[in-house]
Amino acid sequence: MIAMKRILEDLLGLLYPNLCYGCFKHLYAGESLICTDCLYHISYTDHHLDLKNRVAKQLWGRVNFNAAMALLNFKKGARVQNLIHHLKYKNQRLLGEKLGTMVAEKLLVSPFFGEIDLIVPVPMHPRKEQKRGYNQSECIAKGIAAVLNVPVNRTALLKVTETSTQTNRSRYARHENMKMVFLLAKPAELKGKHILLVDDVITTGATIEACALEICKGNIAKLSIAAVAFAD
Ligand SMILES: [Zn+2]
Repeated sequence: MIAMKRILEDLLGLLYPNLCYGCFKHLYAGESLICTDCLYHISYTDHHLDLKNRVAKQLWGRVNFNAAMALLNFKKGARVQNLIHHLKYKNQRLLGEKLGTMVAEKLLVSPFFGEIDLIVPVPMHPRKEQKRGYNQSECIAKGIAAVLNVPVNRTALLKVTETSTQTNRSRYARHENMKMVFLLAKPAELKGKHILLVDDVITTGATIEACALEICKGNIAKLSIAAVAFAD
């Protein structure tokens, strides 16, 4: 009966292609959003096992934090870029949650990310969020929250200034662009807690730095940082 159901699902998949967001190949029964081949072959960083990883080094001297990690290496033209593109621009919220789940599974086996109290996604400006319909970092946060059984807070930290697209800016311009962009509106909600700040892709660290500097005004216990991908 189960085998029959699988055959029917596979037939339906042929009629209504259910494609992997990493490689665009057909997904088989039992696979969802990302195929087994991609899950096996995408470039994992293993940052969760190394306190001196490249994301952490990127942030040293700029913010006070407990530990930082990204799940995947972002390379142009590679499967991780396809995943991030669909997460950010193609309304694939469930993909965000799945990637969040994958981040959380690494956090669970890491010696450095224990006892997180609250998850704070990098906020999006309300106008941009309304236009896109969702905040991809919040989707990732939701996936992490489900595994760690920890709440998500989206009211304490706000994005109060709209920023232009970062893609073609220099490092210095990106940094300047991020000043005064985020605001800790409700510090009491973070007070005394171990916060996990969550982003989609960390590049120069300017966004994380700006968010972290605000979060640290809230008299928190500890700040940890997690992202889906690291692009250098
Ligand atoms: Zn695939």
